[in-house]
Amino acid sequence: MMLKIFLILLVLQGLVVNASSSSSSSEEEEDDDDNGSSEKESKGHHSKGHGVPWGYKDQTAWTFNFTHCSGKSQSPIDIDTRKAIHDPKLPPITLEGYDLTDDSALTLWNNGHTLELILPSTMRIVTGFDHEFRAAQLHFHWGTPEVPGSEHTIDNVHFPAEIHVVHYNSKYANMSEAASKSDGLVVLGGFIQIGLHENENYEKILAVITDVSSEEANTEIPGFNVRHLLPNNLERFYRYNGSLTTPPCYQTVNWTIFNDTITVSRKQLKALENTLKAGQTEHLNKNFRAPQLLYGRQVLASFQNPPSIIGSGNGRIGGSNTSSGLSEGLSRGDVLAIAFGALFALTLLCFTFYICQQHKKYSSITKDSRQNVIYKPAMKAEA
Ligand SMILES: [Zn+2]
Repeated sequence: MMLKIFLILLVLQGLVVNASSSSSSSEEEEDDDDNGSSEKESKGHHSKGHGVPWGYKDQTAWTFNFTHCSGKSQSPIDIDTRKAIHDPKLPPITLEGYDLTDDSALTLWNNGHTLELILPSTMRIVTGFDHEFRAAQLHFHWGTPEVPGSEHTIDNVHFPAEIHVVHYNSKYANMSEAASKSDGLVVLGGFIQIGLHENENYEKILAVITDVSSEEANTEIPGFNVRHLLPNNLERFYRYNGSLTTPPCYQTVNWTIFNDTITVSRKQLKALENTLKAGQTEHLNKNFRAPQLLYGRQVLASFQNPPSIIGSGNGRIGGSNTSSGLSEGLSRGDVLAIAFGALFALTLLCFTFYICQQHKKYSSITKDSRQNVIYKPAMKAEA
């Protein structure tokens, strides 16, 4: 009987192993593609934007050509969730004019450092700060399949990518006037993770990314609700004073980093990581600056919650979860791993039980047979 159960469990386990290996082999195939292209990754592309060229390969060089880059309020930073101070007085952020319609057109372009979408100044942050802030552009930072490329880190953990929506203080005429002013800029930042499903809002941009693969290339896309590129929950965020994360590194940014993450599919992230070029041949990836020292700056949090699991594929970084993300938290691989583990444990248990039973049976048989043996000592051969 026990042997039968054991055999059934073994067959079941075999089925699970087959299923999981077929899913991981398709992932391996994808990874092979990634390795092929990541070999050609950026060797430090250069900018024509600010006159002096700069690249991500040698970030220490920035400080020689751009004095602000060695300042004491630089970005990005690592957000140490244990040290972040809960500030219940941080006002909630309200966005207006983000829901653009498709009768307007937005310019998307490859500026040699990132993929940038130019935004109309009618998009605004109307509460959350002392002034109204107008949108200028949004862009992304990313890595490679092997190297996650967010700029900010949470407890020293990078996320696959990060979105920045850049706004300028409405008391200034435009972005370039505001950029160097101490109260000039507000950037909303969100972490991008891999989820199970394609993100249809990100697809509005990523569907045409091949059109801007070469540096300086641009294309137009129909307007859409840009709010949907940010996390669902904008109430939970970190706040600190920092800088532009690219030269000239002006220390004029009031940073908001959302606690909730955004998920895109693996394929979508790959499009971001593999499509753009900087210069003639270099791949535009790993376009993130290393975390900078705090020099006594404080990071505020709009919420009070102990951090939980980071980077689990969940929609949230820390604190208690409500709706978003949890269902996407467990990938097919995770489920299979759990099922396999449970089956393995059950099989082991049954096998141990079976061995014990067999051992008992055997020892009682040998005991019985011993009882039937009459010990007869051999005659001493004395010659
Ligand atoms: Zn940025």
